[in-house]
Amino acid sequence: MGVVKLRGIVIGESQNGESSKRIQVLAKGVGRVMLSARGAKNTKSKLLSGTQLFSYCDFLAYEGKGFYSMTQADLIESFYGIRTDMDKLAEAVYLAELVDKTCPTGMEQDDTLRLLLYSLAALEKTQLPPRLISRIFEVKYLQISGFLSGEGCMVCGNGEESLFFSEKEGELLCKNHCHGGEIPLLTAVQKAISFITQRDGNQIFAFALSDEAMVQMDGILRRYLEVHMGVRLKSREFSKEL
Ligand SMILES: [Zn+2]
Repeated sequence: MGVVKLRGIVIGESQNGESSKRIQVLAKGVGRVMLSARGAKNTKSKLLSGTQLFSYCDFLAYEGKGFYSMTQADLIESFYGIRTDMDKLAEAVYLAELVDKTCPTGMEQDDTLRLLLYSLAALEKTQLPPRLISRIFEVKYLQISGFLSGEGCMVCGNGEESLFFSEKEGELLCKNHCHGGEIPLLTAVQKAISFITQRDGNQIFAFALSDEAMVQMDGILRRYLEVHMGVRLKSREFSKEL
């Protein structure tokens, strides 16, 4: 049992007895791991701020069987500004839950970690609609996870022509590969998906979307996540109702 250093962000938290917490952390180089923090709920605990949702920290921990026991947490970024706005907070909670529920364990997830950090920074520091930030996150996350290529039709890769969405299969298709019943993508939605998949870092947040396009993007991505990742999270619907 040696001491390990982990740099990562808190994506989930739960109580562990009266005064302790268990947190899920997406850590650089190692992916999603569980850390237990004894006494972290005590208001005087030096672990308190480092175990809050969205805290990005350098952790020191002992490695146990299947989990880590935290001894120190040095806060790098708290994303505190997100907590001052209900819409932003709702989307950030949703993004953390989505990653916590769908991100595989046992391997590094550095692309997802970077995407989450950029998305939380965009929520905190930009005027972009919080819902749009979540949709952008979803497109990039699906691409990182290998479920969305960004090269147009899923069968032939044709991205020049208008695309259609198959609700049944959760696929983007060109006209030639449609079976019937597919929804034609709005030009703005097709452009948005291509914009996001062709860029990286915080460049993906540099566009706006009409309400009409936003509604279609929302529906398509909800279905996409359901088909390919098997999730339909309440926190996503909750943020939509606000
Ligand atoms: Zn095709």
